[in-house]
Amino acid sequence: MINVTKTFLPPQDEYNAILKKSWDKNWMTNRGPLVQELEEKLKKYLGVPNIIATTNGTLPLQIAIKSLGLTGEIITTPFSYVASTSSIVWEGCSPVFVDIHPEYLTIDETKIEAAITLKTTAILATHVFGNPCAVEEIEIIAKKHNLKVIYDAAHCFGVKYKKHSIFNYGDISTCSFHATKLFHTGEGGCMMANDDSLNEILFDSHNFGHKEPGEFSRVGINAKMSELQAAMGLSVLPYMKTIIQGRKRVVDYYNMNIEEFTNLKVLKIREGTNWNYCYFPIIFKSEDQLQIILKLFNKESIFPRRYFYPSLSKLNYVSSFDTPHSDDIASRILCLPLSHDLSFENQNLILDIVKRVIA
Ligand SMILES: *Cc1c(COP(=O)(O)O)cnc(C)c1O
Repeated sequence: MINVTKTFLPPQDEYNAILKKSWDKNWMTNRGPLVQELEEKLKKYLGVPNIIATTNGTLPLQIAIKSLGLTGEIITTPFSYVASTSSIVWEGCSPVFVDIHPEYLTIDETKIEAAITLKTTAILATHVFGNPCAVEEIEIIAKKHNLKVIYDAAHCFGVKYKKHSIFNYGDISTCSFHATKLFHTGEGGCMMANDDSLNEILFDSHNFGHKEPGEFSRVGINAKMSELQAAMGLSVLPYMKTIIQGRKRVVDYYNMNIEEFTNLKVLKIREGTNWNYCYFPIIFKSEDQLQIILKLFNKESIFPRRYFYPSLSKLNYVSSFDTPHSDDIASRILCLPLSHDLSFENQNLILDIVKRVIA
């Protein structure tokens, strides 16, 4: 069986050795030494001033919206995982969808201003498949209209844009460390704000609003990462170079083999990006063609995923918006299996099926 992603598992003895520290201390959670060590190592690895480890990648989105005090309308992208929209609605705000750029697949920054109303308080955009949004243009628009910016950077572990971590852009960035993501802690995630006082608000919010044991600064929730999750992160982190290099090999081979098929489109990475090879989406000619390919894949026990489908403007709990590019791309995009150790043999099997249908 070949799935769209394969969770990287570190050697079990290395994981156990780290986990033993938690046993020795009899300490499972509440920001123990492993969570703190992971945060320090991630700050260095990623090049960010602040980071708060969390129990998944969705709570940070909700905490970001709440901590910035957002109300009313939030401009967002219809081409993302459901969490970026559900978080907006969960926090009592209304998502206003702006269509995506048909090649970069990120929110079309040239269409944002037309969607701003007196009720707009923020832009929540996703760096899709690790491909950065037009962060500079979005910053200019946000400043001009006094809006906050949150980036769902769930796919962006290790991505750099113009030599800086992509996590440094916007007021708050969030990431997911789910088992299907590039870097993982089983379930997990983090949130990052450059501004120290905003970071403090995020920090208190993720721990019930605690300032001190008997003192609360604000309303909070529980989004703490446990020591068990941190142990996984600490044992995966040393392998990031291996993981990314392995994925680069797979992506390069896919690209080399489908180059000649000019009717197939692949992701266009924004200029100035150091990408992380996290997904390999291809955009077929039509949804029919995609369905044919899917059937052939499944017959061979190959399970790619329709990331992202459906377009989020189609959810039954949002108002409808005209997002033709997102609707169209969502209907015919497929992420091919990608992991650091996908063999040439299996890649050829996948490519043969793709070529059989599109040639
Ligand atoms: C995975 C993902 C999330 C949610 O992260 P979890 O850790 O699963 O809660 C949010 N947004 C995007 C774009 C994702 O891919």
